Amino acid sequence: MKPALDLQHPRRAMPARCLLGIAILLAGYLPVDLFAGSLPTGQGVHGRYSGKQGHIIVVTVPTDDSATTVQGTFLGRSIRFFPETRLDEPKGFVGLLGIDLQDEPGTHELNVEVKTRERSRTVRYSVTVVKEKFHIEHLTLPKDKVDLDEKTLARWKAEQEQVKEALATESPSKLWQPGFVEPVNGKRTGIFGSVRVMNGQPRNPHNGEDVGAPLGTAVAATNDGVVRLTVDHFFSGKGLFVDHGLGFYSMYFHLSEVLVKDGDQVKAGQVIGKVGATGRATGPHLHWGVKLNGARVNPYALLDLPFKGETPSAAPVPVVDPASSIGAPVP
Ligand SMILES: [Zn+2]
Repeated sequence: MKPALDLQHPRRAMPARCLLGIAILLAGYLPVDLFAGSLPTGQGVHGRYSGKQGHIIVVTVPTDDSATTVQGTFLGRSIRFFPETRLDEPKGFVGLLGIDLQDEPGTHELNVEVKTRERSRTVRYSVTVVKEKFHIEHLTLPKDKVDLDEKTLARWKAEQEQVKEALATESPSKLWQPGFVEPVNGKRTGIFGSVRVMNGQPRNPHNGEDVGAPLGTAVAATNDGVVRLTVDHFFSGKGLFVDHGLGFYSMYFHLSEVLVKDGDQVKAGQVIGKVGATGRATGPHLHWGVKLNGARVNPYALLDLPFKGETPSAAPVPVVDPASSIGAPVP
């Protein structure tokens, strides 16, 4: 099996302080364990949370029946809360707080405004962002895949603009349901967040997870939503963005085929495309990404959220080719 890497967003350089660690073209993946034990619990006013870069924190704001809207602000990003009674928690509103893979480590304030018909109050939480140890990948690629010519650069900029526009409006209601689905049961490369040095130049970090799977493998939507945009872009190849509401998007790139169109409603587990190697990819794989209120988080963190389906299906055993590894990419 060919190494399966894709190389998104090559232009902006990483700050030098992020260039930690050694160049390991890794073998393992450290599971996101934030929710393995107990759910992080809000302490009411002045409650505290913490989570690593790229993780998701479930924030519960206790409210009474009169609360109508609950909205938070964290590091300039807006977080829309939704009423939730299923969790083993006091009654209240819940928000998914994504910690971006480049959020500054340290303690930051999360301000949550709780509105009723008559009044509004602000609840403050402190959120500690813990530094994640991301890998550094040194990649050697054909020059024209790293240093774009003028025409390709213009194309890439237009494509970025198209994505930005499509994702600018979030669905005002929560479309997803408990029970997140792994889009492909394949070999995870574990390179979410990895710092990329291409042909010796530091580039943007890898903002999703790559999952190696044979060409044509079915790719499922992780949850219910609306197809906001289907693309065939220079780096992403054929792919799509699914809007799950309240600022939560999942994306699926390098497909050989996209099986849905813009505006389609999709259900969790619905086949939306097939694994391919389109765009800048070194072999067939799925690039799975998640944006949560603008934060780039590890998509696998979704599977660890305390929103489990009612009838969890037995996941097929991942097919792992023992001979496969991520060595020097062969585009
Ligand atoms: Zn990728």
